[in-house]
Amino acid sequence: MSKFSLQGRTALVTGGARGCGLAFARGLAEAGANVAIFDVILPDESFGLLEKEFGVKTAYYKVDVSSEESLQHGFEQFQKDFDNKLDICVPCAGINRHLPFLEFTYKDHQDLLSINVLGLYFTAQLAAKQMISNGTKHGSIVLVASMASHIAVRSQLCSAYCGTKGAVRSMCPAIAKEMAEYNIRVNSISPGYVRTEMTASFPHLIESWKADAMNGRIAEPEDIMGACVFLASDASAYMTGQDIIVDGGVTRCANNEG
Ligand code: NAD
Repeated sequence: MSKFSLQGRTALVTGGARGCGLAFARGLAEAGANVAIFDVILPDESFGLLEKEFGVKTAYYKVDVSSEESLQHGFEQFQKDFDNKLDICVPCAGINRHLPFLEFTYKDHQDLLSINVLGLYFTAQLAAKQMISNGTKHGSIVLVASMASHIAVRSQLCSAYCGTKGAVRSMCPAIAKEMAEYNIRVNSISPGYVRTEMTASFPHLIESWKADAMNGRIAEPEDIMGACVFLASDASAYMTGQDIIVDGGVTRCANNEG
């Protein structure tokens, strides 16, 4: 079997109802994994077609990752439906808030932290517990960080968001180190500018974002899917604690002024 195959594996993607999370769910299903998603909104109808398209099992659970109770309940339901199997977890649910640094309120920042940091952290923790209890030999957790944890992204007033993504990136090697003995690898992905609902509110910035990329365009969600499938699969078996930047070269260009 190809080292890229996820045949027989079970994956969980949070924030999988649309955007990057939906693309990750699709990529994992295409590689053969059964895929469950947690989200606060109903999934795009294309999610329901994955079963027929790729012959895998799919399920959606309404879960708010910022609520300990909701997350716990979601995992309980998921465990029952998927016979306690879990090999791959992609905590992707995230939000952004655009405010100047001097105007950020405590509450705004707390909302970001509770979803982007606490939600992600405890999703990864519950997933790891489930992987350990079922004795997976192929555990892979792929945390979704951002290019915004590497550079001050152009014209976006998102200092708090950048901080949450920095937290994701720096917790990654620490979690990876603790999980290595359980056959669980932990890596992160830092996408650049991706065309999703999150970036849709900045139509005036799209042209400058395109110019920032070496290839002259922003990413479609499918453009970042491959990095996730690679990190989920045995093709990346020797990689752990790392971050993969998928940004069209934005962070490698000296002229990007942020
Ligand atoms: P999006 O807004 O299209 O999707 C986010 C998804 O997360 C939605 O389905 C939303 O309902 C879900 N979600 C939000 N709060 C939740 C909660 N409390 N519980 C469960 N689900 C919740 O945005 P996207 O661009 O697809 O972003 C997905 C991830 O990718 C985020 O973590 C984001 O920070 C990251 N990212 C996006 C970009 C980009 O340019 N779009 C770049 C780098 C990183």
